Amino acid sequence: MRADGHLAPRPANFVPLTPLDFLRRSIEVFPAKTVVVAGARRLSYLELGALVGRLAAGLRQSGIGQGDVVSVIAGNTPELLALHFAVPLVGAVLNAINTRLDPATVAHILAHAEARLVLADAERAPLASTALEAGGLKTRLVTLDEASLAAFTQGQGPLPVTLDAVVDEWQPISLNYTSGTTGSPKGAVYHHRGAYLNALGNVMALGFDERSVYLWTLPMFHCNGWCHPWAVTAVGGTHVCLDRPDPAAIVAAMREEAVTHFACAPVVLYNLLHQGGEPGGKLARRVRVATGGAAPTTALIQGLDAMGIELIHLYGLTESYGPVTGCAERADWGEPEAAEKARLLARQGVRHPLAAEVAVVDAEGEPVPMDGVAMGEIVIRSNTLMAGYLKNAAATEEAFRHGRLATGDLAVRHGDGFIQIKDRAKDVIISGGENISSLEVESVLHQHPAVLLAAVVAVADEKWGEVPVACLELKPGQEPPPEVELTAFCRDRLAHFKVPRRFVFRELPKTATGKIQKFQLRAELGSG
Ligand code: ADP
Repeated sequence: MRADGHLAPRPANFVPLTPLDFLRRSIEVFPAKTVVVAGARRLSYLELGALVGRLAAGLRQSGIGQGDVVSVIAGNTPELLALHFAVPLVGAVLNAINTRLDPATVAHILAHAEARLVLADAERAPLASTALEAGGLKTRLVTLDEASLAAFTQGQGPLPVTLDAVVDEWQPISLNYTSGTTGSPKGAVYHHRGAYLNALGNVMALGFDERSVYLWTLPMFHCNGWCHPWAVTAVGGTHVCLDRPDPAAIVAAMREEAVTHFACAPVVLYNLLHQGGEPGGKLARRVRVATGGAAPTTALIQGLDAMGIELIHLYGLTESYGPVTGCAERADWGEPEAAEKARLLARQGVRHPLAAEVAVVDAEGEPVPMDGVAMGEIVIRSNTLMAGYLKNAAATEEAFRHGRLATGDLAVRHGDGFIQIKDRAKDVIISGGENISSLEVESVLHQHPAVLLAAVVAVADEKWGEVPVACLELKPGQEPPPEVELTAFCRDRLAHFKVPRRFVFRELPKTATGKIQKFQLRAELGSG
């Protein structure tokens, strides 16, 4: 076909891709449906739209417009959900900050992001003001409570939900700082187009539809809740807000609100499974959980299965808007017995529906053989990758070197094309020249009846270079097992050089999303 000017895109057939449109549609299509639940509070899509419009009016009233960063420190409240639409509605950029960070780190983020305004819920307002003070920042702080919001909007009517502020689908929609598992947080810039596409990928991968009732156990501030604020809204589903992923509250919400889906890091699931030292009991209806952020063990997957919770295992990074691969039960697996099914599901899986390429490559950038043995680094090409790191061109170029996003995650590829992560490059233990996958040792320790959580890290050793040391958090009421018993338990299941040389019993340091901070353990054990 010859190029022909009249075939060029025009406003009638080219609309910038933006998740704002999901809300616009759901307001039109499901105006009266109850779609936000937070305790006794209930909102319909019309009411959610009004809250969004009201917050947007306040933002505009405060002089916030195109490209301005609005930082928010809040739990999983209807307001934070609404801000996922209200901030982009005025062309601004949402920077939702981890509520568990210390004031100095929050101050660092606010300064680095050049936040024009800080919004905080009543519980986190003291953290916000301490951070502003600590950083010597004069940024205005508005508390997300009724009285302050009334003053914020100064009696202005809500703005209508339109796409007017989205002039280019590549314009930034949010700014997310990495969770700090490896130390220094960087600010990943998301655009409207990527957020739109990844939200749709989630709809496909998790099977969201109009009947979906999504429980907010994942913090909305983490990678914009993996894009679920937009995904659930896209299908006209219901958001059940939960401020804390407390096991009893999760089970209660599941029963009372007929929850169909939730998402969280595996650590939340370990707690759910062992709440009060006893398994949580079987749920009334089948529920799907998407877990990721760290690898779930086969013991966890089997436990969830017995509870009637169906697992979708996701892998991703802040840089990829959350999920970029997924592993869910497939028809062509037949009916594997429980242990085999858990083994299959513990793999990180195949690319997310809208990710263009997820490969495992060797040092030359060539794909490793699909033999489940050869290890390489996971690299990604996708429309669902960040634009880059804010004010850090060097880190952006480094991340995208060789034309793909280098993840630092080491994996193998199985014969069926499924990826399985063996370790983070930084967490591999090299002992006597042999690589030890910390994940492999951890998954053995997770089979021990006394162990709730295990983290295995490298500690410097004169003879071997490094040796594995296991840090163990025990189930409630469990006494530390004798070291000889744990050693024997590992020896029965692992090559001898992989058996931890030492066992340390302690609570494990975690990020707000429940990821274990191994860099901190290494530092404390004197090898960081
Ligand atoms: P940080 O890099 O600070 O931890 P992220 O939240 O971006 O912040 O973490 C992404 C990393 O989490 C990945 O690079 C990977 O190491 C780990 N991860 C995420 N999902 C999984 C998973 N399903 N299995 C194993 N590791 C995972």
